[in-house]
Amino acid sequence: MKIAKEINTYCPKCNLHTIHVVMMPSKGRQRGLGKATRRHNRAIKGYVGSVELKIHPKKLGKKQKILLECKKCKTRVERVVGMRTKKKIEIKR
Ligand SMILES: [Zn+2]
Repeated sequence: MKIAKEINTYCPKCNLHTIHVVMMPSKGRQRGLGKATRRHNRAIKGYVGSVELKIHPKKLGKKQKILLECKKCKTRVERVVGMRTKKKIEIKR
C-alpha cells in the first residue's frame, strides 16, 4: 500500500484542513511490570517450558498505522490506514 509523502487532512488543534507530513510511527517499548506480565511470571514460576497454552484465533493481518505531523503547529496524530491487512505501508518518495 503506497501513501503520499504529504497529505491535506484535518488537524484537531488548528481545527482546519492543513498539509501533514506522513511518517512511520516508532515502535513503543513493552512494559516489564504490567499486570498481565506479572501474572504470567507468577504462573510460570517453578516450571520449565510454557504454561497457559491457549489457542488464540488467528487474526488476518494487522492494522497499519501512520503518523501525521501538521506542518503549521507540529501536532502529531496517529491514524489507522484501512482495516486489518497483510500489505505493508510504503511512503512514496
Ligand atoms: Zn495543526
